[in-house]
This record gives sequence, structure tokens and C-alpha cells, in this order.
Amino acid sequence: MTRSVFVTGGNRGIGLEIARAMAADGDRVAVGHRSGEPPEGLFGVRCEVTDQASVDAAFAAVAEHQGPVEVLVANAGITRDTLMLRMGDEAFDEVLDTNLKGVFRTVRAAAGGMIAGRRGRIVLVSSALGFLGSPGQTNYAATKTALLGLARSLAWEVGSRGVTVNLVAPGIIDTDMTRDLTDRRMRDVMRMTPLGRPGTAAEVAAAVRFLASDAAGYITGAVLPVGGGIGMGV
Ligand code: NDP
Repeated sequence: MTRSVFVTGGNRGIGLEIARAMAADGDRVAVGHRSGEPPEGLFGVRCEVTDQASVDAAFAAVAEHQGPVEVLVANAGITRDTLMLRMGDEAFDEVLDTNLKGVFRTVRAAAGGMIAGRRGRIVLVSSALGFLGSPGQTNYAATKTALLGLARSLAWEVGSRGVTVNLVAPGIIDTDMTRDLTDRRMRDVMRMTPLGRPGTAAEVAAAVRFLASDAAGYITGAVLPVGGGIGMGV
């Protein structure tokens, strides 16, 4: 059965790969994009996750186009890396507002329809390095680990209605977000990665597809690491 899927931050990187993979499976897929044009061949809606009105308008547009959202992939995220002693309030707040409150806004917009429809899949994109701790990323790591508390609490609230809530925790994935990593940092992270290479967006998409599938119907409140073994799943 085809489902109505919505992927935030779906115009590039991991989100775009997830959207393409799910569309290839036959799902009706909408991507949220805050800037630029929607990717070729996919239905796009403007969605700025720091703005509740934009999120609500996006969900309404998706519902009208392909039915209420049955699978939400909360993928939009940013980094504003710097050591804590140099980190201004703005860098901290911006990352919280996007990566944590942005997920809250989108999940809240999605959950009502899923509860009413008595089925749904919510997948949040977290981070393996967030769980390990990562110098220069106190703001980012705080948000990505907070998603676990959000997911597990929500899992209790919606479980009896057939809705699951899970996290994927990617390691270093080759996208725009990681292109500016210094060679030294990349070497350090690769030394902690048994598979010894960065992952691809397609490898993250495969994990998201699984968590969103019927086959994962008895999995909720879980973290699926996609990090080449980094941290062995912590
Ligand atoms: P990219 O920087 O390539 O893409 C980020 C996406 O998020 C873009 O589509 C961007 O939109 C969107 N976005 C950012 N802020 C907002 C906002 N306020 N409202 C709506 N959309 C927004 O990063 P990745 O694809 O690598 O990252 C995707 C997710 O995966 C993020 O949550 C990231 O934290 C997570 N992740 C990435 C890892 C990696 O190594 N790459 C590792 C672990 C987790 P726009 O094009 O307008 O900027």
C-alpha cells in the first residue's frame, strides 16, 4: 500500500536520498524545502521548521496533494560548530530551534493525523557523534541526544494507536554538512570507525526505509546506528 510520506529538509543531502528511496518504493513522497526549488521529480512544499505557521501550511499542502502524512522523516538540521567557550547564544539557540524545536513542531503537526488514522511511522534523524560527544558540537550534540527523550516519550503516547517513533543515528556521512571537516578531524573520526570510511546518504536512507516499513512494526523508541560501527551503537 502506498503511503503519504513527508521528509523535512528533503531538497539535498540525506533527506533527498531518503525521499528518492521511498518514492522508488512507490510511496507518495513530499519534500519540505526552506530554500531554493524542490528537487526534480518530487513534490515539494516550503517548510521552514523554525516557523510553526510554515510547518502547518506545509502539512496542509501535503495532505491536500497526497493525503494526511502517514510517514514523517524529521531530517532538517544544522550545525553551528565552535568550542563552548567561544559559542555565542545565537549559535546555541539557532541549533536548538532547528534541530530540537523544529522536530517538535513537525512531529506535533504529524501526530494528530496518525493517531486518528491509527497508523504511522515517525523517524527522527539523530547523530552517532551526538551520543559519543564531539568537540565543538555542544549545541548540536545536545539537540541530537534530546531527540531520544522526545521519541521515547512520544512512543508511549502513540503506541496504542499503531504509531512508532524511532531514531536513526548516522556517523559521518558524505554530504555538504561534513565537507568542511578538517582532515585531522576526519582522520580522528575514521580511527574510531571500524568500517574506516564515511557513510553515504543512501546507506542512511536504507535504514530509514526499514524503520518506516511494515516490517518494523514492532520497533519503537529505538535508535538504529548507521555509523560504520562508531561507538558500537552508543
Ligand atoms: P545538509 O546540510 O546537506 O542538509 C540539511 C538539510 O536541512 C537541507 O535540506 C536544509 O535546507 C535543511 N534545513 C536546515 N535548516 C532548516 C530549517 N530551519 N527549516 C527547514 N529545513 C532546514 O545536511 P545532511 O543531509 O548531512 O543532514 C541531514 C540530517 O542528518 C541533519 O539533521 C543532520 O544533523 C543529520 N546528520 C548528518 C550527518 C552527516 O555526517 N552528514 C551525521 C549525523 C546526522 P537548505 O537547503 O534550505 O539549507
